[in-house]
Amino acid sequence: MISVEKALKTILANFQPLGLEKINILEARERLIGENILSSRNIPSADNSAMDGYAVRWADTKGTTQDHPLKLKVIEDIPAGKVARKKIKKGEAARIMTGAVIPNGADAVVRQEDTEKNGTTVTIYISAKRADHIRFTGEDVKKGELVVRKNSSLRPADIGMLAALGKSVINVYRKPRVAIISTGDELVDIKTTPGPGKIVNSNSYSLAAQVLECGAEPIMLGIVRDRKTDLEKKFKKALDADVIISSGGVSVGDYDFVKNVMGEIGNAMHFWQVAMRPGKPLAFGAIGGVPLFGLPGNPVSAMVSFEQFVRPSLLKMQGHTKIFRQTIKAVCVEDFQKKTGFRHFIRAIIRRKGDKYLAMTTGDQGSGILKSMVTANGLIVMGENETRIKKGTEVTVQLLDNSLSLSESLQL
Ligand code: AMP
Ligand code: MG
Repeated sequence: MISVEKALKTILANFQPLGLEKINILEARERLIGENILSSRNIPSADNSAMDGYAVRWADTKGTTQDHPLKLKVIEDIPAGKVARKKIKKGEAARIMTGAVIPNGADAVVRQEDTEKNGTTVTIYISAKRADHIRFTGEDVKKGELVVRKNSSLRPADIGMLAALGKSVINVYRKPRVAIISTGDELVDIKTTPGPGKIVNSNSYSLAAQVLECGAEPIMLGIVRDRKTDLEKKFKKALDADVIISSGGVSVGDYDFVKNVMGEIGNAMHFWQVAMRPGKPLAFGAIGGVPLFGLPGNPVSAMVSFEQFVRPSLLKMQGHTKIFRQTIKAVCVEDFQKKTGFRHFIRAIIRRKGDKYLAMTTGDQGSGILKSMVTANGLIVMGENETRIKKGTEVTVQLLDNSLSLSESLQL
Protein backbone atom coordinates (compact mmCIF):
# COMPACT_ATOMS: atom_id res chain seq x y z
CA MET A 1 0.00 0.00 0.00
CA ILE A 2 1.35 3.44 -0.90
CA SER A 3 0.52 6.99 0.18
CA VAL A 4 -1.80 9.30 -1.74
CA GLU A 5 1.24 11.51 -2.60
CA LYS A 6 3.29 8.60 -3.93
CA ALA A 7 0.31 7.30 -5.94
CA LEU A 8 -0.31 10.72 -7.47
CA LYS A 9 3.36 11.21 -8.33
CA THR A 10 3.59 7.78 -9.96
CA ILE A 11 0.40 8.35 -11.93
CA LEU A 12 1.20 11.86 -13.17
CA ALA A 13 4.65 10.75 -14.37
CA ASN A 14 2.79 8.54 -16.84
CA PHE A 15 0.85 11.35 -18.51
CA GLN A 16 1.97 14.09 -20.87
CA PRO A 17 -0.09 16.49 -23.00
CA LEU A 18 -1.52 14.75 -26.05
CA GLY A 19 -0.88 16.03 -29.56
CA LEU A 20 -2.71 18.93 -31.18
CA GLU A 21 -5.72 19.03 -33.46
CA LYS A 22 -7.12 21.83 -35.59
CA ILE A 23 -10.63 22.92 -34.76
CA ASN A 24 -13.04 25.71 -35.61
CA ILE A 25 -13.04 28.48 -33.00
CA LEU A 26 -16.76 27.95 -32.34
CA GLU A 27 -15.91 24.51 -30.98
CA ALA A 28 -12.96 25.83 -29.00
CA ARG A 29 -14.59 27.19 -25.85
CA GLU A 30 -12.90 25.74 -22.74
CA ARG A 31 -10.37 23.90 -24.90
CA LEU A 32 -6.67 24.49 -24.22
CA ILE A 33 -4.98 26.28 -27.07
CA GLY A 34 -1.75 24.65 -28.21
CA GLU A 35 -0.13 27.68 -29.85
CA ASN A 36 0.69 31.29 -29.08
CA ILE A 37 -1.47 33.63 -31.13
CA LEU A 38 0.40 36.73 -32.30
CA SER A 39 -1.64 39.42 -33.96
CA SER A 40 -1.21 39.53 -37.73
CA ARG A 41 -2.70 43.03 -37.87
CA ASN A 42 -3.34 46.26 -36.02
CA ILE A 43 -6.78 46.58 -34.45
CA PRO A 44 -8.17 49.06 -35.28
CA SER A 45 -6.44 49.07 -38.63
CA ALA A 46 -6.75 52.88 -38.95
CA ASP A 47 -7.57 55.89 -36.74
CA ASN A 48 -11.34 56.07 -36.52
CA SER A 49 -14.14 57.89 -34.78
CA ALA A 50 -15.41 56.76 -31.35
CA MET A 51 -18.56 58.91 -31.73
CA ASP A 52 -21.19 60.03 -34.18
CA GLY A 53 -20.35 63.69 -34.92
CA TYR A 54 -18.00 65.83 -36.97
CA ALA A 55 -14.35 65.35 -37.86
CA VAL A 56 -12.59 68.70 -37.44
CA ARG A 57 -9.20 70.38 -37.13
CA TRP A 58 -8.96 70.96 -33.37
CA ALA A 59 -7.07 74.24 -33.89
CA ASP A 60 -10.12 75.69 -35.72
CA THR A 61 -12.22 75.24 -32.58
CA LYS A 62 -9.92 77.12 -30.19
CA GLY A 63 -11.94 79.48 -27.97
CA THR A 64 -15.29 78.09 -29.17
CA THR A 65 -18.03 78.04 -26.50
CA GLN A 66 -21.81 77.90 -26.30
CA ASP A 67 -21.80 81.71 -26.45
CA HIS A 68 -19.12 81.92 -29.12
CA PRO A 69 -20.05 79.16 -31.53
CA LEU A 70 -18.13 78.32 -34.68
CA LYS A 71 -19.52 77.58 -38.16
CA LEU A 72 -17.72 75.00 -40.31
CA LYS A 73 -18.46 73.91 -43.86
CA VAL A 74 -19.45 70.21 -44.09
CA ILE A 75 -17.58 68.89 -47.13
CA GLU A 76 -18.30 65.18 -46.90
CA ASP A 77 -20.41 62.51 -45.22
CA ILE A 78 -18.42 59.48 -43.92
CA PRO A 79 -20.54 56.51 -42.79
CA ALA A 80 -18.78 53.52 -41.13
CA GLY A 81 -17.13 51.35 -43.75
CA LYS A 82 -16.51 54.24 -46.21
CA VAL A 83 -13.19 56.03 -46.63
CA ALA A 84 -13.17 59.82 -47.10
CA ARG A 85 -12.10 61.16 -50.49
CA LYS A 86 -11.42 64.73 -49.40
CA LYS A 87 -8.95 66.34 -47.03
CA ILE A 88 -10.26 68.62 -44.26
CA LYS A 89 -8.87 72.12 -44.64
CA LYS A 90 -9.16 75.16 -42.40
CA GLY A 91 -12.80 76.06 -41.77
CA GLU A 92 -14.06 72.64 -42.89
CA ALA A 93 -15.55 69.54 -41.22
CA ALA A 94 -16.87 66.14 -42.29
CA ARG A 95 -19.92 64.40 -40.91
CA ILE A 96 -18.58 61.13 -39.44
CA MET A 97 -20.17 58.03 -37.89
CA THR A 98 -18.74 55.81 -35.14
CA GLY A 99 -16.10 53.47 -36.56
CA ALA A 100 -15.51 55.46 -39.77
CA VAL A 101 -11.89 56.29 -40.63
CA ILE A 102 -10.77 59.83 -39.71
CA PRO A 103 -10.25 61.84 -42.91
CA ASN A 104 -6.89 63.41 -43.74
CA GLY A 105 -6.47 66.82 -42.20
CA ALA A 106 -8.81 66.16 -39.25
CA ASP A 107 -7.36 65.55 -35.77
CA ALA A 108 -10.42 65.56 -33.49
CA VAL A 109 -14.08 64.59 -33.47
CA VAL A 110 -16.80 66.79 -31.97
CA ARG A 111 -19.80 64.85 -30.69
CA GLN A 112 -23.09 65.39 -32.49
CA GLU A 113 -24.59 66.50 -29.13
CA ASP A 114 -22.23 69.51 -29.13
CA THR A 115 -23.22 70.65 -32.63
CA GLU A 116 -26.16 71.76 -34.74
CA LYS A 117 -26.52 71.03 -38.44
CA ASN A 118 -27.71 73.83 -40.76
CA GLY A 119 -27.81 72.70 -44.39
CA THR A 120 -24.25 72.51 -45.66
CA THR A 121 -22.73 73.95 -42.49
CA VAL A 122 -22.48 72.82 -38.91
CA THR A 123 -22.38 74.97 -35.79
CA ILE A 124 -19.90 73.81 -33.16
CA TYR A 125 -20.50 74.76 -29.49
CA ILE A 126 -17.35 73.53 -27.77
CA SER A 127 -13.62 73.72 -28.29
CA ALA A 128 -12.11 70.35 -29.10
CA LYS A 129 -8.79 69.03 -27.85
CA ARG A 130 -6.34 67.25 -30.13
CA ALA A 131 -7.37 63.58 -30.57
CA ASP A 132 -10.78 64.00 -28.94
CA HIS A 133 -12.97 60.92 -29.62
CA ILE A 134 -10.43 59.31 -31.94
CA ARG A 135 -9.59 55.61 -31.58
CA PHE A 136 -6.02 55.13 -32.74
CA THR A 137 -4.51 52.50 -35.00
CA GLY A 138 -3.46 49.49 -32.93
CA GLU A 139 -4.81 50.87 -29.65
CA ASP A 140 -6.62 47.56 -29.01
CA VAL A 141 -4.02 45.19 -30.46
CA LYS A 142 -0.69 45.97 -32.12
CA LYS A 143 0.60 43.91 -35.01
CA GLY A 144 2.92 41.22 -33.61
CA GLU A 145 1.50 41.43 -30.07
CA LEU A 146 0.85 38.18 -28.13
CA VAL A 147 -2.93 38.09 -27.67
CA VAL A 148 -3.77 34.51 -26.67
CA ARG A 149 -1.18 32.53 -24.73
CA LYS A 150 -0.43 28.87 -25.41
CA ASN A 151 -2.04 26.51 -22.84
CA SER A 152 -4.75 28.98 -21.85
CA SER A 153 -8.36 27.84 -21.65
CA LEU A 154 -10.40 29.66 -24.28
CA ARG A 155 -13.23 31.89 -23.09
CA PRO A 156 -15.77 33.84 -25.15
CA ALA A 157 -13.51 36.93 -25.21
CA ASP A 158 -10.61 34.85 -26.59
CA ILE A 159 -12.89 33.43 -29.27
CA GLY A 160 -13.94 36.97 -30.22
CA MET A 161 -10.30 38.09 -30.36
CA LEU A 162 -9.37 35.14 -32.58
CA ALA A 163 -12.24 36.12 -34.88
CA ALA A 164 -11.08 39.75 -34.95
CA LEU A 165 -7.70 38.49 -36.13
CA GLY A 166 -9.35 36.41 -38.85
CA LYS A 167 -8.36 33.11 -37.25
CA SER A 168 -11.26 30.71 -37.73
CA VAL A 169 -9.24 27.53 -37.14
CA ILE A 170 -6.71 27.01 -34.34
CA ASN A 171 -4.62 24.26 -32.75
CA VAL A 172 -5.92 22.87 -29.47
CA TYR A 173 -4.79 19.88 -27.41
CA ARG A 174 -6.60 16.73 -28.40
CA LYS A 175 -9.26 15.47 -25.98
CA PRO A 176 -8.29 12.23 -24.27
CA ARG A 177 -10.54 9.33 -25.31
CA VAL A 178 -11.38 7.45 -22.15
CA ALA A 179 -12.71 3.89 -22.28
CA ILE A 180 -15.01 3.07 -19.36
CA ILE A 181 -15.57 -0.55 -18.30
CA SER A 182 -17.71 -1.71 -15.37
CA THR A 183 -16.98 -5.12 -13.95
CA GLY A 184 -19.33 -7.29 -11.91
CA ASP A 185 -21.67 -10.28 -12.21
CA GLU A 186 -24.26 -8.34 -10.21
CA LEU A 187 -24.53 -5.48 -12.73
CA VAL A 188 -27.37 -4.90 -15.16
CA ASP A 189 -27.77 -2.26 -17.83
CA ILE A 190 -29.64 0.99 -17.06
CA LYS A 191 -32.68 -0.16 -19.09
CA THR A 192 -33.06 -3.43 -17.16
CA THR A 193 -35.03 -3.66 -13.91
CA PRO A 194 -32.60 -5.37 -11.54
CA GLY A 195 -33.69 -8.87 -10.47
CA PRO A 196 -32.76 -10.44 -7.12
CA GLY A 197 -29.15 -9.72 -6.19
CA LYS A 198 -28.62 -7.40 -9.14
CA ILE A 199 -27.96 -3.65 -9.28
CA VAL A 200 -27.87 -1.12 -12.09
CA ASN A 201 -24.42 -0.21 -13.39
CA SER A 202 -24.33 3.38 -12.22
CA ASN A 203 -20.54 3.75 -12.13
CA SER A 204 -20.23 3.89 -15.92
CA TYR A 205 -22.50 6.93 -15.86
CA SER A 206 -20.99 8.83 -12.95
CA LEU A 207 -17.50 8.18 -14.34
CA ALA A 208 -18.52 9.20 -17.87
CA ALA A 209 -19.95 12.43 -16.49
CA GLN A 210 -16.72 13.06 -14.58
CA VAL A 211 -14.75 12.42 -17.79
CA LEU A 212 -16.94 14.93 -19.64
CA GLU A 213 -16.51 17.44 -16.83
CA CYS A 214 -12.75 17.22 -17.43
CA GLY A 215 -13.30 18.07 -21.10
CA ALA A 216 -12.42 14.53 -22.19
CA GLU A 217 -14.42 12.05 -24.26
CA PRO A 218 -15.92 8.93 -22.64
CA ILE A 219 -16.23 5.70 -24.59
CA MET A 220 -18.87 3.52 -22.97
CA LEU A 221 -17.75 -0.10 -23.14
CA GLY A 222 -20.50 -1.36 -20.81
CA ILE A 223 -20.47 -4.24 -18.35
CA VAL A 224 -18.12 -7.19 -18.19
CA ARG A 225 -18.61 -10.33 -16.12
CA ASP A 226 -16.15 -11.37 -13.40
CA ARG A 227 -14.36 -13.90 -15.62
CA LYS A 228 -10.71 -13.55 -16.55
CA THR A 229 -11.29 -14.38 -20.21
CA ASP A 230 -14.16 -11.88 -20.51
CA LEU A 231 -12.09 -9.19 -18.80
CA GLU A 232 -9.16 -9.82 -21.13
CA LYS A 233 -11.39 -9.57 -24.18
CA LYS A 234 -12.98 -6.36 -22.94
CA PHE A 235 -9.70 -4.68 -22.05
CA LYS A 236 -8.29 -5.54 -25.46
CA LYS A 237 -11.28 -3.77 -27.03
CA ALA A 238 -10.26 -0.63 -25.15
CA LEU A 239 -6.73 -0.47 -26.52
CA ASP A 240 -7.41 2.29 -29.04
CA ALA A 241 -8.37 4.67 -26.21
CA ASP A 242 -5.88 7.07 -24.58
CA VAL A 243 -6.85 5.95 -21.08
CA ILE A 244 -8.85 3.02 -19.71
CA ILE A 245 -10.92 3.23 -16.53
CA SER A 246 -12.48 0.14 -15.02
CA SER A 247 -14.51 -0.04 -11.85
CA GLY A 248 -14.88 -2.99 -9.52
CA GLY A 249 -12.95 -6.23 -9.26
CA VAL A 250 -9.82 -4.79 -7.66
CA SER A 251 -10.42 -5.84 -4.05
CA VAL A 252 -9.49 -9.07 -2.34
CA GLY A 253 -12.69 -10.94 -3.23
CA ASP A 254 -12.72 -14.34 -4.92
CA TYR A 255 -13.86 -12.79 -8.21
CA ASP A 256 -11.69 -9.69 -8.25
CA PHE A 257 -9.64 -10.44 -11.34
CA VAL A 258 -8.85 -7.00 -12.74
CA LYS A 259 -5.39 -6.91 -11.12
CA ASN A 260 -4.52 -10.37 -12.46
CA VAL A 261 -5.58 -9.44 -15.95
CA MET A 262 -3.63 -6.18 -15.74
CA GLY A 263 -0.58 -8.11 -14.60
CA GLU A 264 -0.94 -10.77 -17.29
CA ILE A 265 -1.77 -8.83 -20.45
CA GLY A 266 -0.15 -5.62 -19.44
CA ASN A 267 2.71 -6.87 -17.43
CA ALA A 268 2.75 -3.35 -16.11
CA MET A 269 1.12 -2.99 -12.73
CA HIS A 270 2.54 0.16 -11.17
CA PHE A 271 0.82 -0.19 -7.82
CA TRP A 272 -2.20 -1.56 -6.01
CA GLN A 273 -3.80 -0.07 -2.91
CA VAL A 274 -3.53 3.49 -1.65
CA ALA A 275 -3.72 4.57 1.99
CA MET A 276 -7.00 6.45 1.57
CA ARG A 277 -10.67 6.08 2.37
CA PRO A 278 -12.74 5.74 0.39
CA GLY A 279 -10.74 4.28 -2.48
CA LYS A 280 -8.12 1.98 -0.93
CA PRO A 281 -8.13 -0.81 -3.57
CA LEU A 282 -7.11 1.42 -6.51
CA ALA A 283 -4.86 -0.33 -9.03
CA PHE A 284 -2.83 1.58 -11.60
CA GLY A 285 -0.98 0.12 -14.53
CA ALA A 286 -1.03 -0.12 -18.29
CA ILE A 287 -2.09 -2.61 -20.92
CA GLY A 288 -0.66 -2.50 -24.40
CA GLY A 289 0.89 0.84 -23.48
CA VAL A 290 -2.48 2.36 -22.52
CA PRO A 291 -2.67 3.62 -18.93
CA LEU A 292 -5.33 1.81 -16.93
CA PHE A 293 -6.99 2.94 -13.72
CA GLY A 294 -8.58 0.00 -11.91
CA LEU A 295 -10.98 1.95 -9.70
CA PRO A 296 -12.81 0.33 -6.79
CA GLY A 297 -16.40 -0.72 -7.45
CA ASN A 298 -18.16 1.08 -4.64
CA PRO A 299 -19.85 4.09 -6.24
CA VAL A 300 -18.33 6.65 -3.85
CA SER A 301 -14.88 5.05 -3.93
CA ALA A 302 -14.90 5.10 -7.73
CA MET A 303 -15.86 8.78 -7.86
CA VAL A 304 -13.46 9.93 -5.13
CA SER A 305 -10.54 7.99 -6.67
CA PHE A 306 -11.42 9.55 -10.02
CA GLU A 307 -11.32 12.99 -8.40
CA GLN A 308 -7.93 12.42 -6.81
CA PHE A 309 -6.10 10.63 -9.60
CA VAL A 310 -7.93 10.43 -12.93
CA ARG A 311 -9.07 14.05 -13.14
CA PRO A 312 -5.58 15.57 -12.72
CA SER A 313 -4.25 13.10 -15.31
CA LEU A 314 -6.92 13.95 -17.89
CA LEU A 315 -6.35 17.67 -17.34
CA LYS A 316 -2.59 17.26 -17.73
CA MET A 317 -3.16 15.38 -21.01
CA GLN A 318 -5.06 18.41 -22.32
CA GLY A 319 -2.27 20.87 -21.53
CA HIS A 320 -3.71 22.23 -18.28
CA THR A 321 -1.23 23.34 -15.66
CA LYS A 322 -3.84 23.92 -12.95
CA ILE A 323 -4.86 20.31 -12.52
CA PHE A 324 -6.06 20.16 -8.92
CA ARG A 325 -9.32 21.23 -7.36
CA GLN A 326 -9.36 24.45 -5.41
CA THR A 327 -8.93 23.93 -1.66
CA ILE A 328 -10.25 26.23 1.03
CA LYS A 329 -10.29 26.38 4.81
CA ALA A 330 -13.69 25.91 6.42
CA VAL A 331 -14.95 25.69 9.99
CA CYS A 332 -16.33 22.23 10.70
CA VAL A 333 -19.67 22.44 12.48
CA GLU A 334 -19.50 18.95 13.97
CA ASP A 335 -17.11 16.45 15.59
CA PHE A 336 -15.63 13.72 13.43
CA GLN A 337 -13.40 10.79 14.37
CA LYS A 338 -11.31 8.26 12.49
CA LYS A 339 -8.38 5.90 12.99
CA THR A 340 -4.83 6.72 11.89
CA GLY A 341 -3.14 5.30 8.80
CA PHE A 342 -5.43 6.48 6.02
CA ARG A 343 -6.17 9.84 4.44
CA HIS A 344 -9.91 10.40 4.52
CA PHE A 345 -11.98 12.30 2.01
CA ILE A 346 -15.16 13.13 3.89
CA ARG A 347 -18.15 14.18 1.82
CA ALA A 348 -19.33 17.55 3.03
CA ILE A 349 -21.70 20.40 2.36
CA ILE A 350 -19.84 23.69 2.32
CA ARG A 351 -21.59 26.99 2.61
CA ARG A 352 -20.53 30.56 3.07
CA LYS A 353 -21.40 32.47 6.22
CA GLY A 354 -20.21 36.07 6.19
CA ASP A 355 -16.53 35.91 5.32
CA LYS A 356 -16.16 32.30 6.51
CA TYR A 357 -16.97 28.89 5.10
CA LEU A 358 -18.77 26.26 7.14
CA ALA A 359 -18.41 22.53 6.54
CA MET A 360 -20.97 19.91 7.55
CA THR A 361 -20.59 16.22 6.69
CA THR A 362 -23.26 14.64 4.51
CA GLY A 363 -23.92 12.04 7.22
CA ASP A 364 -23.24 8.35 6.65
CA GLN A 365 -19.84 8.08 4.97
CA GLY A 366 -20.23 4.48 3.70
CA SER A 367 -18.53 4.05 0.32
CA GLY A 368 -21.75 2.63 -1.10
CA ILE A 369 -23.78 5.73 -0.15
CA LEU A 370 -23.88 7.51 -3.52
CA LYS A 371 -26.27 10.07 -2.06
CA SER A 372 -23.34 11.37 0.01
CA MET A 373 -21.78 12.50 -3.28
CA VAL A 374 -25.08 13.88 -4.58
CA THR A 375 -25.45 16.24 -1.64
CA ALA A 376 -21.74 17.07 -1.26
CA ASN A 377 -20.04 20.05 -2.85
CA GLY A 378 -16.71 19.42 -1.13
CA LEU A 379 -14.45 16.82 0.41
CA ILE A 380 -12.94 17.46 3.85
CA VAL A 381 -9.38 16.15 3.67
CA MET A 382 -8.32 14.54 6.93
CA GLY A 383 -4.63 13.58 7.15
CA GLU A 384 -3.24 10.09 7.73
CA ASN A 385 -2.20 10.86 11.31
CA GLU A 386 -5.26 12.84 12.31
CA THR A 387 -7.83 11.12 14.49
CA ARG A 388 -10.29 13.82 15.34
CA ILE A 389 -11.93 16.95 14.02
CA LYS A 390 -13.21 19.04 16.88
CA LYS A 391 -16.43 20.94 16.25
CA GLY A 392 -15.61 24.60 15.54
CA THR A 393 -12.07 23.97 14.25
CA GLU A 394 -10.75 24.62 10.76
CA VAL A 395 -10.48 21.88 8.16
CA THR A 396 -9.11 21.75 4.62
CA VAL A 397 -11.73 21.20 1.95
CA GLN A 398 -11.39 20.30 -1.72
CA LEU A 399 -14.22 21.96 -3.62
CA LEU A 400 -15.98 19.66 -6.06
CA ASP A 401 -17.74 22.32 -8.12
CA ASN A 402 -18.42 26.07 -8.41
CA SER A 403 -21.40 26.16 -6.05
CA LEU A 404 -19.44 28.41 -3.68
CA SER A 405 -18.90 31.07 -6.31
CA LEU A 406 -18.90 34.72 -5.30
CA SER A 407 -22.10 35.49 -7.17
CA GLU A 408 -25.27 36.22 -5.23
CA SER A 409 -28.10 33.70 -5.36
CA LEU A 410 -31.49 34.67 -6.69
CA GLN A 411 -33.88 34.98 -3.73
CA LEU A 412 -37.16 33.36 -4.75
P1 AMP B 1 -16.20 -4.63 -6.10
O1 AMP B 1 -15.10 -3.61 -5.98
O2 AMP B 1 -16.26 -5.24 -7.45
O3 AMP B 1 -16.07 -5.64 -5.02
O4 AMP B 1 -17.55 -3.85 -5.85
C1 AMP B 1 -17.77 -3.21 -4.62
C2 AMP B 1 -19.22 -2.77 -4.50
O5 AMP B 1 -19.50 -1.83 -5.51
C3 AMP B 1 -20.24 -3.87 -4.68
O6 AMP B 1 -21.28 -3.67 -3.75
C4 AMP B 1 -20.72 -3.68 -6.07
O7 AMP B 1 -22.02 -4.14 -6.22
C5 AMP B 1 -20.63 -2.19 -6.27
N1 AMP B 1 -20.41 -1.89 -7.67
C6 AMP B 1 -19.45 -2.42 -8.42
N2 AMP B 1 -19.52 -1.95 -9.69
C7 AMP B 1 -20.57 -1.11 -9.73
C8 AMP B 1 -21.17 -0.33 -10.75
N3 AMP B 1 -20.68 -0.35 -12.00
N4 AMP B 1 -22.23 0.42 -10.44
C9 AMP B 1 -22.71 0.44 -9.19
N5 AMP B 1 -22.20 -0.28 -8.17
C10 AMP B 1 -21.14 -1.06 -8.43
MG1 MG C 1 -17.13 -6.78 -8.31
